[in-house]
Amino acid sequence: MEKDTPFVVAIDGPAGAGKSTTAKKLAATLGYAFLDTGAIYRAVALAARRPGNDLGDGASLGPLAARLDIAFVPVAESNRLILDGVDASGDIRTSEISDGASRVSALPPVRAALLGLQRRLAAHSRVVAEGRDVGTVVFPQAAAKFFLTAPPEERARRRSRELEAAGRPSDPATVMAEMVARDQRDSTRKTAPLRKAEDALEIDSGGLSPEQVVAQMVEVVRARGG
Ligand code: C5P
Repeated sequence: MEKDTPFVVAIDGPAGAGKSTTAKKLAATLGYAFLDTGAIYRAVALAARRPGNDLGDGASLGPLAARLDIAFVPVAESNRLILDGVDASGDIRTSEISDGASRVSALPPVRAALLGLQRRLAAHSRVVAEGRDVGTVVFPQAAAKFFLTAPPEERARRRSRELEAAGRPSDPATVMAEMVARDQRDSTRKTAPLRKAEDALEIDSGGLSPEQVVAQMVEVVRARGG
């Protein structure tokens, strides 16, 4: 297959399952672009955060999401998220925005507004895309699909480490409670809930190193012609 033929590897799963770490490593190993769809929902939550704003109001947040200028710019090892011209990469990683993203992402008008953007971002390259519905809704034709899980305690530990690394240490019990609430909301919403695509390979990353998970994925992607 030619290098510029769209070829999507989809990785879905709950918070803290190791999606970002493995998706980034997989993309680097394969020489593919990396698409963090969660960052896009986080950007909408950040833009919607105003005193008195209702994060459940799809009628106003759908048009807001459609108006936003959201772009990714690779800088060194990371992908910076640029929201309306401003680097918001740090601001979107707080617990408040995690919760806000989970709320706004349950609104059908917001999901509809972001679908085209996600597809455009993957249109002309080989991409590893991670999120909640990339294998089921955004890229149902993805060449390879994975559903990454891990035991809840381990996911909460990873999430705590991420927050600490971002300079936002949090009480482990609080992290666990917030994570469980977010997973519950993501899995039970009516539109594009978090679920494993029928043709996705489920990998439990509990007890595995990121390298071991990536090695399994590389094998599958290679077998599919990637
Ligand atoms: O992956 P991340 O934790 O950054 O995602 C933040 C939130 O965005 C998720 O909890 C989920 O509610 C939402 N999301 C989504 N669909 C995606 C990616 C993220 O609904 N494809």
